[in-house]
Amino acid sequence: MRPRTLLVAMMALWVSAAMSVACSPLETTSPVTGTTIEEAGTAAPGPAGLPEYAYRSAQAVRGYQVAIAEKELLSVLPCYCGCGQDAENYENLADCFFVPDGDFNSHAANCQICLEQAEDAARWKLEGLTTKEIRDRTDREYEGRGKPTDTPPIA
Ligand SMILES: [Zn+2]
Repeated sequence: MRPRTLLVAMMALWVSAAMSVACSPLETTSPVTGTTIEEAGTAAPGPAGLPEYAYRSAQAVRGYQVAIAEKELLSVLPCYCGCGQDAENYENLADCFFVPDGDFNSHAANCQICLEQAEDAARWKLEGLTTKEIRDRTDREYEGRGKPTDTPPIA
């Protein structure tokens, strides 16, 4: 392929990626093995207990680690990535990391917003915020990023 043709192909790819929704995968091939990453659902845990797609970036590793440690907290936070719009299975931020049977969900590995939200929640908890304060702050800071999941408010 001539360099120019390659450039055009790459531009087309970039444009289509930029036009898609927030959580579209940026990359569908695993940097580790070169095999295609599953869109959603189950994957065998890797050596450190995370599924292979969680190792696509340092941020993803951190996000999945938070999700394991703070699953309960994430389950009372809405996800602002827009995932609530296209799948009934998404009711809160924890659903972006876990499917209903408890297995990992690959969704968050491809989603900047899910990963950012998880890290923020963990950081705010370390800073001493209560669960309700974390919820309020999440709503304040992520409002407008995408349509939130329909997550019941904290009393
Ligand atoms: Zn999400």
